[in-house]
Amino acid sequence: MNNSLYSKKVVCPICGKQFSSMKAKINSCKVKKRDEDFCIHYMDLNPMYYDIFVCPCCAYAAPENTFRELTEEEAGILKEAFSGRKVGRSFCSERSLDDAIAAYKLAIYTAELRKASAGTLAGLCLKLAWLFRFKGDKQEELFLGYSLRNYLEAFNKEPLPIGNLNEISLMYLIGELSRRLGKLNEAITWFGKAVVSPERKENPKIEKLAREQWALTRSQHMESEKNE
Ligand SMILES: [Zn+2]
Repeated sequence: MNNSLYSKKVVCPICGKQFSSMKAKINSCKVKKRDEDFCIHYMDLNPMYYDIFVCPCCAYAAPENTFRELTEEEAGILKEAFSGRKVGRSFCSERSLDDAIAAYKLAIYTAELRKASAGTLAGLCLKLAWLFRFKGDKQEELFLGYSLRNYLEAFNKEPLPIGNLNEISLMYLIGELSRRLGKLNEAITWFGKAVVSPERKENPKIEKLAREQWALTRSQHMESEKNE
């Protein structure tokens, strides 16, 4: 076994079976670079590969922090959906990029079944988009789009913070996802909201990023008008 990994025992709340899932030792994960939508690239081991626990008996999948947190209603829906299902691959040992992608897809499927909040779905879709980015796969754009749609819904309907995003970070991220998807006018609007947010003083890094990406988007926008 890769000695940057350790194994953790988990009990599936759906089928009751115990299994082990790998986790990355955080000090073994060296950051290579960060993208403007908060995606972190690692030198070698990426801890995100192991974020999702997948039960090898019934395929129930969820991030570690919500794996056991089920209401009775959710457990009922999921038990019905997952009973008798077979898992075609093992997620319990070292994971490849494709394994991590498959684990995130299962987690999104589970989150949809349990009617997770838009904010939760947005976060899962964003991470799956990043995994496709690491692979150089065009499906990145599809999942950035799902993530953006869900973050917009969460911004309008759900209490903050959304995951670990406070208001200014969420406005900035909506701007950056819009920019990456070519929605330049929307991006300019959202970066504009972020730079005047009352939270900017406590979040100087986000304010700086928002100003930089705002300027970049304005020049991209002028460029695209010139080419029309
Ligand atoms: Zn299970």
